[in-house]
Amino acid sequence: MSEYENEWMLDAELATLGVRAGQVRSAEGEHSEPIFMTSSYVFSSAEEAAERFDGSSPGNVYSRYTNPTVRMFEERLAAMEKAEACAATSSGMAAILSVCMSQLASGDEVVCSKSVFGTTTALFNRYLAKMGVITHFVSLTDIDAWRSAINTKTKLLFIETPSNPTNDTVSIRTMSEIAHSVGALLVVDNCFSTPALQRPLEHGADLVVHSATKFIDGQGRALGGAVCGAKQHIDEVVVFLRTCGPTMSAFNAWIFLKGLETLALRMNAHSDNALQIAQFLEAHPLVKKVHYCGLDSHRGHEIAQHQMSKFGGVLGFELIGARAQAWSFINATKICSLTANLGDAKTTIVHPATTTHGRLSAKEREEAGISETLIRLCVGLESVEDLITDLKRGFASLQ
Ligand SMILES: *Cc1c(COP(=O)(O)O)cnc(C)c1O
Repeated sequence: MSEYENEWMLDAELATLGVRAGQVRSAEGEHSEPIFMTSSYVFSSAEEAAERFDGSSPGNVYSRYTNPTVRMFEERLAAMEKAEACAATSSGMAAILSVCMSQLASGDEVVCSKSVFGTTTALFNRYLAKMGVITHFVSLTDIDAWRSAINTKTKLLFIETPSNPTNDTVSIRTMSEIAHSVGALLVVDNCFSTPALQRPLEHGADLVVHSATKFIDGQGRALGGAVCGAKQHIDEVVVFLRTCGPTMSAFNAWIFLKGLETLALRMNAHSDNALQIAQFLEAHPLVKKVHYCGLDSHRGHEIAQHQMSKFGGVLGFELIGARAQAWSFINATKICSLTANLGDAKTTIVHPATTTHGRLSAKEREEAGISETLIRLCVGLESVEDLITDLKRGFASLQ
């Protein structure tokens, strides 16, 4: 548990932590968290300045190092993830980069799920490869493949569960055991579930990364990210951030603090809406398959039930037909926003095969389960009846 923690936090529920954890009031007695828009800080004497710089006295020096608003966000998210510590970053990709840069050196190896965020794959392939780090990509659910991909050079295992957009799941506990058998760390990108639905550290993961841009903000306003885990690892991430610079701005930290206040409520509503929509789609004669790990029929349901409290807002469904049917469906909806983004109060709809996964080869898409009629929905906070009416417009366009 965090060094800044108050005693009341020890047995507080997630909803309470989201509203209150990490707040430090200034002498002004403000009720809401203030935004400290300052790049640097003043010292009361030359002696104090020297102590701040050599680290013998705690306190702020410069906002690339620490900022009070950013620290409140870090403390709040750490409390919610049940992490000892958290470091905030300028984006989700900066969070993943900071884990790699603090943990990996030339000659090390990474084993990464094939079903991760596309830019994560590009980071490993384009930049880490250039620095002599080899990444092996394996199917998320193929446990034997993970076991054969690890060796004594393996330093990180990287997963997203549930995966996007097919909602495949893997046991975080099993993956952590595989990682630890060779002394590697398990990193979980928890951006789809957030700590409101899944806390990977409680299941043996070593590091959790977030794109705060998605559900933590939840209203599509700002870019940010975070890494949560043991203090020992987060201290190394912080050294990278201080040295290389992709820190979170105070203004964005304030947006995310406000996002965390409603996170538990919102994730519940996203999940309830998504489950109702998944059930509606599953019963529809023009739907070939629904990929939502909240459905009993989904292959990832049992694992999801074990490590998640609800199943989130992202689902995929395949229509009967071909690409033309999927495009017609998407074009006929009026409420859903056609955008590749997700984790927003506004429901989003996209055709992965020609957008988010468009750069993959046909074979890679097939392996990832991205068919020509697959549509991804990230179910928002609108009335679920209105959303179902909107999806009916999509189906009507196919008749
Ligand atoms: C969006 C996203 C990222 C990258 O986050 P940014 O904030 O856009 O840099 C990483 N992982 C997942 C799962 C995402 O959806």
